[in-house]
Amino acid sequence: MAGYPHDKGRIRSSAQVTSAAIIVTMRVVVIGSGIVGAGAAYHLSRRGAAVTVVDGGYQGDATRAGAGIVCPWVDHPEDDDWYRLTNEGARHYPGLVEELGEDIGYAKVGALLVAEDPADLEQVRALLRRRRPGAPEMGEITDVSTPSELFPPLSDTLSAILVPGAARVDGRAVRDALLRAAVSMGAEVRTGIAALTPDGQVLLHSPDGSGQPLAPEGTAGSGATPAVTAGGAAYPPTSRAHGGGQGASWRQAAPSGPVTGGPPGVQRPLSGAAVPLDADAVIVAAGAWTGEVCRPLGVELPVFPRRGQILHATLEGVDTAWWPIILPRMGPYLLGFPDSRVVIGATVEDVGFAPRVTMGGLDEVIRAGLRVAPGLFNATVTETRVGLRPVYAPGPALIGPLTGRVVVATGLSAYGLTAGPFTGRIAAALALGDTPPIDITPYAPNTR
Ligand SMILES: Cc1cc2nc3c(=O)[nH]c(=O)nc-3n(C[C@H](O)[C@H](O)[C@H](O)COP(=O)(O)OP(=O)(O)OC[C@H]3O[C@@H](n4cnc5c(N)ncnc54)[C@H](O)[C@@H]3O)c2cc1C
Repeated sequence: MAGYPHDKGRIRSSAQVTSAAIIVTMRVVVIGSGIVGAGAAYHLSRRGAAVTVVDGGYQGDATRAGAGIVCPWVDHPEDDDWYRLTNEGARHYPGLVEELGEDIGYAKVGALLVAEDPADLEQVRALLRRRRPGAPEMGEITDVSTPSELFPPLSDTLSAILVPGAARVDGRAVRDALLRAAVSMGAEVRTGIAALTPDGQVLLHSPDGSGQPLAPEGTAGSGATPAVTAGGAAYPPTSRAHGGGQGASWRQAAPSGPVTGGPPGVQRPLSGAAVPLDADAVIVAAGAWTGEVCRPLGVELPVFPRRGQILHATLEGVDTAWWPIILPRMGPYLLGFPDSRVVIGATVEDVGFAPRVTMGGLDEVIRAGLRVAPGLFNATVTETRVGLRPVYAPGPALIGPLTGRVVVATGLSAYGLTAGPFTGRIAAALALGDTPPIDITPYAPNTR
């Protein structure tokens, strides 16, 4: 991977470089410290920018709930724009792991695509064959006659093919490691709600203006006042957007059930003194809340939350660390982590800003999980998580300049743990005026 040379020197703000050659470090504020914002902060810091990351600690942020599957080759068969972004995102990981030099839960454990009827595997097998020349890192695809030898709780009625290059990662660990690395290079992380002014200045709201944690009340989605709906976009979104542009994706990342949601946006009440944060550029990586954050700029971005509920279970005494990811044609996926942990998820629900674990959601995940892996019947439920995937209604991710100083980076939907750090790198390049590592035209605002 072509990384940024660390010693390339600090980025200068063109506005502040005078004829007397006074070198001023470029200041960038990043709104949101999920995996995208953390990735941006990391890459900006490596380029020598002075970075301030602001996060309001919203309940339902997606990064803390994400499962951690990195297997781009099985999805988006008819959407090259989605595929390019997720494929590059997956490619970005091995180099990143090396650079960070710490455990982010990344391991190439492989993925087993499983189906009751072997005929159901043919379409994805053809897709993998087509893509393999351009993505040799997926490894050699093989049939697996007894998948339960690799993932013992699996039903023994399933047929399977193995994609050995698939990886899993711990989203929280990635985000934390990226932020730690950014801080070690001088970045500052502040807690508070960032608001934009119409000309793109950033105001940090916190009780005493110090950037200290806000009172926990008033979290988005917990009964806050509904605000305006996303202008210009139907809700719930339709067509390409509803399925995340997936066509016949192997993973089902569009809602299977009826839409029961309310309006797509809720306004988190701002409280406390507002402190202006000086910045030459701003990156908005506020996940499902991005539309809200950008509204003062006079734009209506159709970004909405898609809820996912997910369950963690342990199988005491069993080494699950190298179990492959299980990707059924329909229903939930399963993946192993160290500490005898198995993750089963997730629901796909368009219910607005409602980051709640529900009886119905857990019931859906447990029933479907046990159908695929009955051997988990006695596993201990240790944790449930819920997150709001940020979905951009018109299509694949939303990455690009919104104004001369504000860059937006969101909409990674069910693929943000795969493409998040790479998207952060793109956003960092845009904020610094560099050429992004891929052509961003398909993701740029106002091009669709
Ligand atoms: C159940 C579940 C399973 C998933 N599984 C996978 C998977 O296996 N593989 C995969 O690739 N992806 C997966 N995803 C998707 C992935 O988790 C998301 O796409 C990704 O985490 C989005 O990251 P983000 O940084 O854009 O948003 P978030 O992680 O939501 O971060 C946005 C941040 O912005 C902050 N914020 C918002 N507004 C403001 C404001 N005004 N001021 C300050 N801060 C603000 C919030 O507090 C939040 O921390 C899954 C998601 C879910 C929910």
